[in-house]
Parts: sequence; structure tokens; C-alpha cells
Amino acid sequence: MQIANNRVVSINYTLKNDAGAIIDTSEGGEPLTYLHGAQNIIPGLERALDGKVADDALQVTIEAADAYGEYNKELTQVVPSEMFEGVDKVEPGMEFQAETEHGVQVIRVAAVDGDNVTIDGNHPLAGERLHFDVSVVEVREASEDELAHGHVHGDDCCH
Ligand code: ZN
Repeated sequence: MQIANNRVVSINYTLKNDAGAIIDTSEGGEPLTYLHGAQNIIPGLERALDGKVADDALQVTIEAADAYGEYNKELTQVVPSEMFEGVDKVEPGMEFQAETEHGVQVIRVAAVDGDNVTIDGNHPLAGERLHFDVSVVEVREASEDELAHGHVHGDDCCH
């Protein structure tokens, strides 16, 4: 069965950045299972997998725009450290959930300079060209429930 919209796809993958460092991998764990055509995964990877079948293997390079988006400097902001009430020590790399005009977003602390804290709302992989090693494990039709919900139902499902 070919990978096409409204089919459930399981893949094993290893994701590297431009420098060749492994960022994420399914090796040693469960394959990633997703609903094709439902924007469950980044657009560039979904496009590359279109039409593939079980046991196909591919290497694909995805530009930032088709991955987690270009880095947007406007999503960074310098705020006073008093904003982090109840946090003993604010350090780069910490993540907080913040109410913004776009809803709840994860904000990362990018830098701390005295009382000035630079926060960054970009996805950690924004602006990165990504390199995927992918092998297709399984392709099946989605159930009606899965199509209605726009995601895969399995052992680790939310309901
Ligand atoms: Zn559901």
C-alpha cells in the first residue's frame, strides 16, 4: 500500500542537523506513527514520503521553511527578571508556558544579562536545515475515528 492522504504511516527515522549531530531518532524506541495529509509532521517530510511503501528507505534534506519555519527575530524579547516570579535562578535553556496573543506558547530563555532576560518564542529547530534518514515500517488505512480526529489512535493515544 502506498503512502497517501488519510493513511496511517509508521516510520523509523533519524534526524540530524546541518552539522551532522543527531537531534532525534526513533532507534531503540517505537516507530513514529502519524496520519498522512493531516499536518501531523513537518510539510517537507510529509511530501517526501508521499507514494512510498513499506520497507522503502530514503534520505531527505528539508529546508527550514518546510520544516519548523524560518527563525523570526520578532519572537524574541528582552524582559525584566522580575517577570519570573517564584523562579530561584533564571538560566538559558529554561522553558516556560506563557499566555500570548496567539494563545499559550512555550517560551525559552535564550540569554540572561543581569536583570535582563532574553526570551525566544521560536521553535528550537526554527531556521535549521534538517536531514532525515527514514525507513517506512507500515502503511494502513485510517479508521473513521482517526480521520474525524485528524490523528492516529493507538496505545499512547490521549483518549
Ligand atoms: Zn482522537
